[in-house]
Amino acid sequence: MSQGKEARQIRNTILIGCLINVTLTIVKLLTGYFGGSEALVADGFHALGDTGSDIIMLGFVGLSFKKASDRFTYGYGKFETFASLLISCLLLFIAGHVMAESVESIERYNEGAVLQHPDIWTVVVVIISMAVKEFLFRFYRRTGKQTRSMALVSSAWHHRIDALTSIATLIGVAGAHFLGSGWRILDPAASVLIALFIIIQAIRIFLPSFFELMERSIPSHDIQEVSAIVSRVKGVRKIECIKSRKSGPFLIFDVKVAIPADMTIKEGGDIAIKIEDSIREQSGSNVLVSVMTVPFE
Ligand SMILES: [Zn+2]
Repeated sequence: MSQGKEARQIRNTILIGCLINVTLTIVKLLTGYFGGSEALVADGFHALGDTGSDIIMLGFVGLSFKKASDRFTYGYGKFETFASLLISCLLLFIAGHVMAESVESIERYNEGAVLQHPDIWTVVVVIISMAVKEFLFRFYRRTGKQTRSMALVSSAWHHRIDALTSIATLIGVAGAHFLGSGWRILDPAASVLIALFIIIQAIRIFLPSFFELMERSIPSHDIQEVSAIVSRVKGVRKIECIKSRKSGPFLIFDVKVAIPADMTIKEGGDIAIKIEDSIREQSGSNVLVSVMTVPFE
């Protein structure tokens, strides 16, 4: 399969997933709100977070083809990082809100209040959503394997986890609907659990994007691999330093090497090009490398 065709197939898969997540968000929020289930509303906000991650992924696939310009000479990678950070903050805010509402309902229940009776439609929506998520899991996994996309395979597992998370929603909603009014606490209790899931999801998006904005280096074993490649280039006497950082889909390297002092500028330039090529060969095409040569003494 050609690279362009693969990227298109990945993008189409995520687009379908994104449209389904948008539908799930709307249906869950509306049914939850009007059907009287806090757990379903919380699940709807989770779906909203999933839609946000899909949009980031879509941007990721698009950006990896957008090359650096005169105004953004290091490429457009940080746009994705910033979007991730914003979405994680939004998720934390939503989780806090969901948590506060559910705790309030639990307190009211403890004080003897009778909680809302969730509509039968809330139960139906949860069951349909579990089936849809299971379908998305299989669909993403198949395309992920065909295109060898790690991002798709890990998203596939996210859909499977969503299907399983919905079991908590189902217990909450169905328990509150079918059992007596004494069991209606199951609905806000499930909602608290879902808020915790949203917080975990937010932290998992926040941490990598925060460290990327802070220009953290790539893992040390990856640096060791790059430094092994650079030291194998003919003419390199010593590696003075290798700096690295991530920028969305891009990896950026600044390499400083010592070469024999009697080499011509042309020979030094050839070595620099060879270093760039060999790093790109190892780490893929989304790599920006700048090389500085100094005389070896
Ligand atoms: Zn999810």
